[in-house]
Amino acid sequence: MIAPSPAALDALKNALGPAGWTQDAFEIAPHLTEWRNRWTGETPILLKPASTDEVARLVTICAEHQVAIVPQGGNTGLVGGQIPYGEVLLSTRRLRTVRDVTPLDDAMTLETGITLLEAQQRAASANRYFPLSLAAEGTATVGGVISTNAGGTQVLRYGMMRDLVLGLEAVMPNGEIFHGLKRLRKDNTGYDLKQLLIGAEGTLGVITAATLKLFPIMRSRAVAIVGLETAAASIELLARAKGETGGGVEAFELMKRLGTELVLRNIPDTREPLDSQPEWSVLIEIASGSPGGAEAQLTALLEVAFEEGLITDAAIAQNDAQRAAFWRLREEHSAALKPEGGGWKHDVSVPISRIAEYIDEATAAVERFHPGARVSVFGHIGDGNLHYDVLPGVGQDIPAFIARWKEGSQVVHDIVARYDGSISAEHGLGRLKTEEAKRYKTPLEVSTMQAVRKAIDPQRIMNPDVLF
Ligand SMILES: Cc1cc2nc3c(=O)[nH]c(=O)nc-3n(C[C@H](O)[C@H](O)[C@H](O)COP(=O)(O)OP(=O)(O)OC[C@H]3O[C@@H](n4cnc5c(N)ncnc54)[C@H](O)[C@@H]3O)c2cc1C
Repeated sequence: MIAPSPAALDALKNALGPAGWTQDAFEIAPHLTEWRNRWTGETPILLKPASTDEVARLVTICAEHQVAIVPQGGNTGLVGGQIPYGEVLLSTRRLRTVRDVTPLDDAMTLETGITLLEAQQRAASANRYFPLSLAAEGTATVGGVISTNAGGTQVLRYGMMRDLVLGLEAVMPNGEIFHGLKRLRKDNTGYDLKQLLIGAEGTLGVITAATLKLFPIMRSRAVAIVGLETAAASIELLARAKGETGGGVEAFELMKRLGTELVLRNIPDTREPLDSQPEWSVLIEIASGSPGGAEAQLTALLEVAFEEGLITDAAIAQNDAQRAAFWRLREEHSAALKPEGGGWKHDVSVPISRIAEYIDEATAAVERFHPGARVSVFGHIGDGNLHYDVLPGVGQDIPAFIARWKEGSQVVHDIVARYDGSISAEHGLGRLKTEEAKRYKTPLEVSTMQAVRKAIDPQRIMNPDVLF
């Protein structure tokens, strides 16, 4: 990669005016370190365009001068794809216009620096529901969740970001604007360029606006935390819950006892949800189109499951505060690991029917590889997605444990591959997993991705160290 010449930097500054860029180290610093402090990068300049035209001007200059660009939204990505190492950093956070909301189309068009939470709120103000939800939603941007094809807690019913985008506008690597902000549900006219950009992690262009799919607001919701003896029982419960609610399960989140304990220990104002302190618990959220329907369905489901011995304990949230408290126990799982000094984190998926078998096999293999290691499993098992984290044993040397991360992760990921799973279910590859992914992708997949990229970005100026 070529460092930007003084002439290129001058051209970029002139294209934006003083409000649109900074070289102030203090202002840039928060953009250079990611959430887990795993990467600290560097950049000659932070660019802050406020419109699509400004983005197009910047990318055109970068293309002319062969300057590499890293796009960044909220900087909550967990695989380091948003951190520059010498590239210019292009922040989308000033792209903040709501272009339109059209309830009759069940669609809204937003610029991509808007946060996910703001997008949800904007949909709600039009009496519609935008379902994508994740713990970082107050900071993660629409552009970031599209570029990582984020998942989160509602995938079971509504799909990943790929399923929620109707149209896109993006600045391509030569500076041309792709005007694809259609609101159509059906458009069968050849290759779908927007789908290539979704999940591309900033390697094929800068996404500047998106038209998102909206849904009706459900009339009732009910949330419970349920105790179970085994992970296998949770899969059986999931199948029943889906069947008996007619597809009304919106979230189904598994938590192993260790993760819950870490939340209770490390996160203030959290409370034990079930006195029985079960080894496995599940957070279930059910939504229904009829008032009161969700709670009735959830209660009926849990009563039968309890009578049959499938579950051992359950608490149904009685009000919004309790619902929020239950969700907090799940959503703080990642944050609760931080004070423990680190671990080997994995974001994997396997077929739902094989989750319990996978957990048993991976845990036995990890215990053989690093005796004493502790495993925390949580995640969106309704989607087959597990956050499978390995922590050092109590009293073990943490730096020595962390040093074994690559080999340890290979143990976990090799088993994922044998289960026909994925080593990155929802966070992407970024700087963290791009090299490792070559071990699990076929040569055909790698070479096809390289060919597509070369056709769209022949100079490889967009996020050059990320993906193949
Ligand atoms: C506490 C916590 C919980 C999380 N939970 C989940 C979860 O449940 N599910 C999940 O999927 N993820 C989760 N994440 C990961 C993260 O929130 C998502 O990856 C999110 O999509 C990133 O959005 P962002 O705006 O912060 O993007 P960034 O971190 O800024 O960027 C992420 C990637 O997208 C690219 N990019 C960003 N904006 C654009 C754009 N406009 N155009 C082109 N490329 C762009 C960047 O170059 C980078 O490669 C979590 C993160 C945290 C910190």
